[in-house]
Amino acid sequence: MVSRVIPVDPFDLVVFGGTGDLARRKIMPALFRRCAAGQIPDAARIIGVARHDHDTNSYRALIAESLRAEEAEPCHLEGFLRRLEYRSLDATDPAGWDSLAACLGEGVRAFYFSVSPDLFGPLAERLRNHGLATPDSRIVVEKPFGHDLGSARALNRTLAAHFGEDQTYRIDHYLGKETVQNLMAVRFGNMLFEPLWNSQYVDHIQITVAESMGVGARGAYYDQAGAMRDMMQNHLMQLLCLIAMEPPAKFDPDAVRDEKLKVIRALDPVKPHHIVRGQYAAETGCGYREEVGDPRSITETYVALKAHISNWRWAGTPFYLRTGKRLVARSSIINVMFKDAPHSIFGEEAGRHANVLSIRLQPNEGITLKVTIKEPGPGGMRLVDVPLDMSFAKALGPENQNPPDAYERLIMDVIRGNQTLFMRGDEVEAAWAWTDPIIAGWQARGDVPKPYDCGSTGPGDAELLMKRDGRRWQGINP
Ligand code: NAP
Repeated sequence: MVSRVIPVDPFDLVVFGGTGDLARRKIMPALFRRCAAGQIPDAARIIGVARHDHDTNSYRALIAESLRAEEAEPCHLEGFLRRLEYRSLDATDPAGWDSLAACLGEGVRAFYFSVSPDLFGPLAERLRNHGLATPDSRIVVEKPFGHDLGSARALNRTLAAHFGEDQTYRIDHYLGKETVQNLMAVRFGNMLFEPLWNSQYVDHIQITVAESMGVGARGAYYDQAGAMRDMMQNHLMQLLCLIAMEPPAKFDPDAVRDEKLKVIRALDPVKPHHIVRGQYAAETGCGYREEVGDPRSITETYVALKAHISNWRWAGTPFYLRTGKRLVARSSIINVMFKDAPHSIFGEEAGRHANVLSIRLQPNEGITLKVTIKEPGPGGMRLVDVPLDMSFAKALGPENQNPPDAYERLIMDVIRGNQTLFMRGDEVEAAWAWTDPIIAGWQARGDVPKPYDCGSTGPGDAELLMKRDGRRWQGINP
């Protein structure tokens, strides 16, 4: 089964920060792959913008270097580089905008803000003031979207002064992952799951986003943010929404986002004893404090928490969320833990068995349903749990071994004008409104994160959070 490629209409995509890390590691490779797949028409132009004094030739050479790891046919590479241009411009300076305007066509214009967040507002303002913002224009805003509710609101207001909400694409690249979209397909495309998808049948839900790497070069930013702001407020919150939301009436941007917003608004405040903060420690030679050069840093690199959604569907079903750096493996997985059967006809000795639906986002994207069967062989009715395993790569054929990167899907959606997989302003604000009191509570109590070993599953208190409820985390290892 080969995925179909539907070419988009010609467009101009301006990447502010076109020489930066994100542009070189993610945005340009994603565009290159879409181009090689035949999705980007000849007339499309991609214009890198930054302050550095490149000309188009030296910029093409820089991007060609970033694409070295791609398995590129020479003709594909040439075809992509031909669509690339460069303009030197300082986002905070009034000069250079007319030259940028002169190279833009009449059709779709997408302005990708791959720059530091303090430039998002000035860029939107200058695009409007210099006449670059046409009705067919859209802006793409990278994370972080604000630092708290106040700053997110201020940024929403600033952007809204220059671009409509229907022109504003707030990226959460988790939403572009193939399996995350599959969450909706699995839930709303099958009769099998939806009738059971509620507190009557689901005991609890676990969402884990584990990283094996530390903060690396992002230390300065990360130390101001921490796992709560960097991961929980956005990526895990989005996963929670997709798992918990009601079926939208149709697969349309506002219908989907309305339902996600209702979930966030129905979240109860998290009780302090339902949260565990951690920080990877130096004992194993990779301390966070050493990495960021601050021996007193109390920024968390790990958070685990228990959340409750106060609505009819989920009343009484806890959602356990955890994320951390330098953990035992890189793995993102959602486990829907069903309740035990109400009565076992096989007696006490058959033990307790419950179905688990595991949705693996990375690595090895796929879905596993743990079902209980009879252990083969004579000698009575012994029960055993076995996985019904669907690896998408196996199920869909070798050509789908490597699903498209999230950025490929998301950038093409921007060009097509489809906002379904982008966060709306009110969603982001609601997520901050839930997050802010948690962080304020830590500050008020002078909370210090619990140390945990690199390569572990996080602080021991996170295990206790579950144990107190008579539950335990499923494994992190994929
Ligand atoms: P970066 O490597 O520091 O790149 C910043 C880019 O902005 C460079 O091209 C820089 O080029 C340009 N720039 C800086 N000041 C400018 C100005 N006044 N006018 C015009 N261009 C300017 O940053 P990054 O890691 O690519 O991150 C970009 C954005 O993406 C940030 O908002 C970040 O939070 C977000 N993000 C990044 C990642 C990631 O993996 N890197 C992941 C998620 C989100 P010049 O210095 O030549 O101007």
